[in-house]
Amino acid sequence: MPELPEVEALAAYLRERAVGHTVQRFEVASFSALKTYDPAPSAIAGTPLSGAGRHGKFLDVSLGDDLHMVVHLARAGWLHYRDSFKSPAPLKPGSGPIAVRVRLDDGSGFDLTEAGTQKSLAVYLVRDPAEVPGVARLGPDALAVSRDEFADRLRGRNGQVKGVLVDQEVLAGIGNAYSDEILHAARLSPFALTGKLTEDQLDALYAAMREIETDAVQRSVGQKAAELKGEKRAGMRVHARTGLPCPVCGDTVREVSFADKSLQYCATCQTGGKPLADRRLSKLVR
Ligand SMILES: [Zn+2]
Repeated sequence: MPELPEVEALAAYLRERAVGHTVQRFEVASFSALKTYDPAPSAIAGTPLSGAGRHGKFLDVSLGDDLHMVVHLARAGWLHYRDSFKSPAPLKPGSGPIAVRVRLDDGSGFDLTEAGTQKSLAVYLVRDPAEVPGVARLGPDALAVSRDEFADRLRGRNGQVKGVLVDQEVLAGIGNAYSDEILHAARLSPFALTGKLTEDQLDALYAAMREIETDAVQRSVGQKAAELKGEKRAGMRVHARTGLPCPVCGDTVREVSFADKSLQYCATCQTGGKPLADRRLSKLVR
């Protein structure tokens, strides 16, 4: 799933490549992806693409003075920028991975795509991004929050730190992949309870969050369109590296189920050498 750094990179690319161009056509191939009906997609034609930014993991494309296309890429969605399209014919609804195509006046444009069968990519055409329920509920951005606000928000939502970090209402932008990396860098167990974190642990967690997210943004922004990818294995120390050596201590990276996914961690770096019990599995066995 694209997280803060990948969405920031997409916004940066659009600011450089697309802002200033006028939307020629807004084509919808997946009607389930478009979550709003007013304004109509046809109303977008002729509107200049005037800006691009993000709210947490939501991409926000400004259209003219008072319209926004807000996109949540979900687990397998992505934005593919094209310098040109092979065919001028409009997309056929319901076929293939393309949900929405935006054509610009210079012949370029972009496709919003979603791989797989589980379709949850969401596109909203709104006058105010806060009309999007997921945007209205977002906590402060992970890269904008102060250390003290960070501590207050984590303690205010007592739970396992892994779950609290990815809760978009607590902090906006962090997802499954970078939360594994942040917890590893902070040397914290993913199952540590936020209400019991010491000041030193909160310092370490805040510093790790800033470092991991800032590094990832710097790696992502400035890439060429073809290099922009939703997948983010490069530079990862524990996430999606089950069975490989931890680059810090050499222990084997382990995996344990968490919510409906799995998380990866290093026992030596994070849990005093003790492997975490797979709670879902032990529940089944019992
Ligand atoms: Zn380690």
